[in-house]
Amino acid sequence: MFLTKDKVKITVSELSLYFSCARKLYYSCRGHQGVSSSSQYFIEHLVLKEMAMSYPHMLKGSSSKDDVTSERLEELLLEVLGTIPHIYPVEMEGVSAEMIECASQVIRSCFGMLQENLSMQISLPEISILAGRLAARDEEPYLHSEKLNVTGVPYRLLDMDGTYVPVIIKTGSSPEKGVWMNDRLHISSFAMLAEEMHGNPVKYGFVLYARSGIFRKVNIHSTDRRQVLSAIGRVRKIKEGTMPDKKESPLCDGCSYSDMCNVRSSLASKFF
Ligand code: SF4
Repeated sequence: MFLTKDKVKITVSELSLYFSCARKLYYSCRGHQGVSSSSQYFIEHLVLKEMAMSYPHMLKGSSSKDDVTSERLEELLLEVLGTIPHIYPVEMEGVSAEMIECASQVIRSCFGMLQENLSMQISLPEISILAGRLAARDEEPYLHSEKLNVTGVPYRLLDMDGTYVPVIIKTGSSPEKGVWMNDRLHISSFAMLAEEMHGNPVKYGFVLYARSGIFRKVNIHSTDRRQVLSAIGRVRKIKEGTMPDKKESPLCDGCSYSDMCNVRSSLASKFF
């Protein structure tokens, strides 16, 4: 197979960054830091990720939609704020109390949406079963494909009805329906690693959107696998030194690489 002879090992995190923006991956591979570890958005990301790990317990322990209250969410937020300095000592080093408070306020502003979505999902049988299975597991599985030379660690890999089901947590906004294309490809990447390790096709996975408290099921199709295979080849080339073209997107607004990305683009346009 064309990919097996390649030596460069890649990770699903690198694939995910590539799905977001190929240039971002290029800069990241060359040691340029993307989202500053001291930015408010990054703190929100850490807090939401930790909070989301408790949503399955919240759903499992609730029998009516009135059980998910803003008081419960506030308790969870305070608990997470107490634990993140221990879980992320490097990332949290030097982060000011003011920045943590600003991040907390943004998260509190999501409580209404979180309450509504988590409450609504208590009565959905499929989500209820998923929450029960997630609440019973606490290890993040290491996945490795010899053939593709790709490794990755999803949030969870559940064995449900004889099929493996990858679950990932995302802390950005959720689409109105389904999942973002990048998230679909991210979870498909894990599915392909799990398939090689366990020898069974993975039919679907779940994305947990932490900011809105929504679990979304993703059916994995052959077209997703094809796109992941193609991305693996391109990521290898980027890691080996090929700079991808800049593609303007809404992500460019506020991108921490935008200064160097714009300079490189204008230099390139002078030569070509
Ligand atoms: S400025 Fe746009 S194209 Fe450049 S790295 Fe950022 S998101 Fe990607």
